[in-house]
This record gives sequence, structure tokens and C-alpha cells, in this order.
Amino acid sequence: MVTVLYSPAVVRELLGRYSLQADKALGQNFLIDGNILKQIVEAAELAPSDTVLEIGPGLGVLTRELAVRAQQVIAVELDRRLLPALAETLVDSNNVTVVHGDGLKYDLTQLPLASVLAANLPYHVATPLVARALASGRFKRLVFLVQKEVAQRMVAAPGGEAYGVLSLIVAHFATAKIVRDVPAAAFWPPPEVTSSLVRLAVRPHVAPDPELFALIHDGFRHRRKTLKKNLLLAGYLPERVARALSTLGLDERIRAEALGLAQFKELQAALR
Ligand code: SAM
Repeated sequence: MVTVLYSPAVVRELLGRYSLQADKALGQNFLIDGNILKQIVEAAELAPSDTVLEIGPGLGVLTRELAVRAQQVIAVELDRRLLPALAETLVDSNNVTVVHGDGLKYDLTQLPLASVLAANLPYHVATPLVARALASGRFKRLVFLVQKEVAQRMVAAPGGEAYGVLSLIVAHFATAKIVRDVPAAAFWPPPEVTSSLVRLAVRPHVAPDPELFALIHDGFRHRRKTLKKNLLLAGYLPERVARALSTLGLDERIRAEALGLAQFKELQAALR
């Protein structure tokens, strides 16, 4: 039975014993830093009655810590090859259900309301995984490791380089915060990028707004063009766009990146 998992030697030993190699294409960078592990768990603020969804348990390093604090953990892992090693590391975690499958296809309606998502996400699918989790309405909190650039886009305020569609979609559902940056040395094998630990506190009862999201996408279609130009290219009628901008008191040369979520909602109403 493996006692400590957050060590490069242990990860290598486990992978070796099960004749495995970390699969780069699946974003397999295993966490080997006990301090970061502690901070993920703290940021998740788990109560004993919580259900936690973990996408990509890997070798179970985070899974075991979550299981100690929550009522149950559902851990969805895509890589079938890892399952025997995971069964070994989770042998004492009786409240964990390992599901073999794609986290992007997992039926989130199976989870109780106010669940928590906690994960060291596979970076290549992190954005759609988070967007899908937010839209599901099943979570009160999402705590995850993700590539630093993506984290910055999630938390960005209007005006900055990183601000865009993702910032606005996240802001629609949640209050976002970067808890800390995480160096590549916290993982084995180390990824080529710096990571960040992100915490999203989800507002209750917020449904997706497809009309608003389409407007946001349209507004940012060509980043260097004005909002007005982008809306015209998207097919909005010129008189309506002119009237809406004037109602909001916005200059015709303004770009989408200058507008916060509240202004996009006002624009949505003015364009109707
Ligand atoms: N949680 C482990 C840790 O912190 O050491 C592993 C994290 S590793 C960054 C990402 C994990 O996600 C890998 O185990 C990988 O196989 C898994 N994975 C990749 N794509 C996935 C998907 N679409 N659905 C579920 N798991 C996936």
C-alpha cells in the first residue's frame, strides 16, 4: 500500500510497476508537491456532506485527500491503463467511485446540487470542462489547476490583454480568483507551462444565457475591430446597433474588451 503519493520517486515506481508511461497527449502531469496538494484541498473548503467530482484522478494523489474530507468523490478518468494503479492507491478510500470515461461526456445531472469540482485538470480540455461544469448548475465551487494563461483569461477584468469571451462567461456564473501560481516543478513529468490554482465561487441559480453568450462571441469576433463593426458583421441591423450604443452612452469606436458583463447585458436588452 502506497502511503505518500506526492513524490517523483513514488510516481515513477507506480508507473514502472504497472508498465505505464505518462501520456503527454492526455495531459498527464502528476502532482508531486505536498504543499500545493494541501492548498487545493483547502481552497475546496469541503464539508463532510459534500459530493466532489474530480476529473482526471490519475494515480489518485488528490482523490485520496478529497475522500478524507467529503462524503463521496466521483473520479472520472479517461485513461483505462491507469485504473489498476488507481485501484491500488484508493484501496482504503471507500467513498470514491472511479468512472472510466471522458469527463466531457460525464452526465453531470447525476450529481447532487451544490457539489464541488476539484481537479488537476488535463490542460488540453480544461476550458470546455470548466464551461460545461458552470453551465450544468450542479456546482457551488470549482477548484482546479490549469495553465496560467487560461487562469488569467478566466479572472481578467475589462481592458486587459487577457480579457475576453472566457472572462465574461466565467463572470456570468461565478466570482473567479487565482489562489496562486504553481511552478512546473510541482509536477512529474514537469509540463512546459506554469500553472495556476483557480477557485470559482459559483452564484446560485444562474442559468446559461445563450443569447447573451452569442452576443459576447459576436462582439469579440475580430478583436482588433470595433464592437460596432463586429456586430454589423454578425448581421445586426445598423440602425439598431447605432441606437443601442447611443442608449448605453458608448462611443461608436469602442471595442468589446472595454465592456464589463453588466454592460453586455445592457447591450443585449438595448439590441432587442
Ligand atoms: N489528478 C492527478 C494528479 O494531480 O496527479 C492527475 C492529473 S493529470 C494533469 C490529468 C489527468 O486527466 C490524467 O490522469 C489524464 O489521464 C486524465 N484525463 C485526460 N483527459 C481526460 C478526459 N477527457 N476525461 C477524464 N480524464 C482525463
